[in-house]
Amino acid sequence: MESPAVYSIPMTTRFRGITVREGLLLRGPAGWGEFCAFPEYPDAEAAAWFAGAREAAEEGWPEPVRSRVPVNCIVPAVGPERAAELVRASGCQTAKVKVADHPDSAGEDRERVAAVRDALGPAGHIRVDANTGWSVDEAVRAIRGLDRAAGGLQYVEQPCVTIAELAAVRRRVDVRIAADEAIRRAPDPLAVAVTEAADVAILKCLPLGGVRRALRVAEAVGLPCVVSSALESSVGLAAEIALAAALPELDYACGLGTGRLFTTDVVADADRLLPVDGWLPVLRTAPDPVRRHEVAADPDRKKWWRARADRLATR
Ligand SMILES: [Mg+2]
Repeated sequence: MESPAVYSIPMTTRFRGITVREGLLLRGPAGWGEFCAFPEYPDAEAAAWFAGAREAAEEGWPEPVRSRVPVNCIVPAVGPERAAELVRASGCQTAKVKVADHPDSAGEDRERVAAVRDALGPAGHIRVDANTGWSVDEAVRAIRGLDRAAGGLQYVEQPCVTIAELAAVRRRVDVRIAADEAIRRAPDPLAVAVTEAADVAILKCLPLGGVRRALRVAEAVGLPCVVSSALESSVGLAAEIALAAALPELDYACGLGTGRLFTTDVVADADRLLPVDGWLPVLRTAPDPVRRHEVAADPDRKKWWRARADRLATR
């Protein structure tokens, strides 16, 4: 068997503290899979990601029930003018806006969502993601202010760290709460009880161990789901899209437009999974041989990723 390819691709914008994304591509009888657990994750957590890559390579995915998936545009912690530009350029009807980026962000956050509302128009949807940045009291205050500034929020993603805190916030505000980290990083995502704490569940297929396992988590959670990427190349993104395409219900736009955050990709330009007018097609992808060579990681990183994959393969 050929050695798995290891890629290293610079990001267009620093995202989640990352400026270069790396991952390993493995090929099996069903096609290509991507293993890209963040380097700092221990093997115990990376194992689910590896299972997701193996599912893609060895089994493939369940049949889709839709042929395209709506996506949101991403608005990082930027100024209001830039935020409006990003929304207009995207063609998306839904915007996901990063908030709580630093301790004094409240005023900037409100200006950002107000600018996004102007750009999106009254029919668009605005959701915000605090990535666990607030205490309960901070969350209640911030969410009320942001809801007013946005002229209505669709939901607020992971305002605080714990499930008990999410439940406390949810009792005090009228805006829907979405659970992300609370599910994905729970010791057992299949057993996590969030119905008191959240109205929406964010699912990421590869961190949850693949499409089939994520579908089981969706069923166990019992909430409307939004599929979000884990910053994969277009090979891994195809798995996330396959999950969004296989969910029995899909009420909200998904967070799968992250291909735009990559300066290039492992697939040919024509095969990149980039949203057009807020939609992504449901496709399988394969790396392009020329591209694969261009984005190849240096020998040290290749060795590191292959050793990690070998450990996980024999766990
Ligand atoms: Mg999130």
